[in-house]
Amino acid sequence: MIASVLPTYNRAPFSFVKGEGAWLIEADGRRFLDLGAGIAVNVLGHANPALTEALTEQAGALWHTSNLYEIPQQKALADKLVDATFADTVFFTNSGTEACELAVKMARKYWYEKGVPERVDIITFSGSFHGRSSAGIAAAGSEKMTKGFGPLLPGFVHLPFAEHDGVAPAITDKTAAVLVEPIQGEGGIIPLPDQCLKGLRDLCDEHGILLILDEVQCGVGRTGKLFAHEWAGIEPDIMMVAKGIGGGFPLGCVLATENAASGMAAGTHGSTYGGNPLGCAVGNAVMDIVNTPEFLSEVNRKSGSLRQKLEGLVAAHPDVFDFVRGQGLMMGLKCKATNMDVVQAAYDQDVLTVPAADNTIRLLPPLNITDAEIAQAVDRLDKAAKSLSD
Ligand SMILES: *Cc1c(COP(=O)(O)O)cnc(C)c1O
Repeated sequence: MIASVLPTYNRAPFSFVKGEGAWLIEADGRRFLDLGAGIAVNVLGHANPALTEALTEQAGALWHTSNLYEIPQQKALADKLVDATFADTVFFTNSGTEACELAVKMARKYWYEKGVPERVDIITFSGSFHGRSSAGIAAAGSEKMTKGFGPLLPGFVHLPFAEHDGVAPAITDKTAAVLVEPIQGEGGIIPLPDQCLKGLRDLCDEHGILLILDEVQCGVGRTGKLFAHEWAGIEPDIMMVAKGIGGGFPLGCVLATENAASGMAAGTHGSTYGGNPLGCAVGNAVMDIVNTPEFLSEVNRKSGSLRQKLEGLVAAHPDVFDFVRGQGLMMGLKCKATNMDVVQAAYDQDVLTVPAADNTIRLLPPLNITDAEIAQAVDRLDKAAKSLSD
């Protein structure tokens, strides 16, 4: 008999009743050090007092009104994002997938309104992940995500990731945009080299097409900058954000330049919940904490120490681990052992990590994890690795 919860996930047999910072606690008191943070979502850890206060204060006043009316919390968060980034305008969603839907629609509408309706194609890359909607799976294109869900949304051109020379020849007079993750998350924490991202920006400028970045996983302070593309010194035309921006509340958004958003007049897009007062109250609190030089420099400092410790871990267990990759507190351990075995061995040491493609495990801790917790996390991963070598 089918489970009452649609069985699309292979779940680990843990259930948590409480969270405290970087810790998740089961009913019997077993405490796990959480290096997954709900898949890069809980950027300020679990039960963060500032976020709890923002949420409960708003919950006591007003939850939801719809986008038929002005929403001051939404405007405040949009202003913060516009002030902090390349963007001139923001649309709020409830997830990364919905952000992908709008990014694709916006790029196509841009060309339609420019009188070039045949420019509909969006270039995407192997190993990418853009969500599970029909547009999201068509964008990613992998058989794992698309098989059985045809007919797929047309208009996506799939190229190998980080093979820069292949991009220019693929741009045609049907190309609307290029869509890429600055660091592939689900794909295995694979950074796009800065010169590739710069090169994509140059190519898009040369051909007058739009650059869409998917920063759903790598954004919101995760890499030690507010957004990962800042490391490459470039700016996109459109950017998808979600996961971290709500700190655990379902919230996402699309950021765009005035030019890229020029086709999106009143009535062209909408969302019932997107940007409601409750979600935006939390989003504002996240931004107020994460988008400060002090917070981001701490992410970078801690990232340096985590990386150094992980390099040591790999050196100590060459049969289990191959190498470390990633940036900031978005680290991947490419495994030689089977990654699920490593994730399981870490569970046995009360550490939560997240598997990814390319036989990788992901470390995406809360950005406010402490130095002591980082040291403890790597100690426990060391024990986990030892248990696999025995
Ligand atoms: C998680 C993710 C998405 C999808 O976000 P949801 O909130 O699950 O819809 C899209 N792109 C990237 C890069 C992601 O990591």
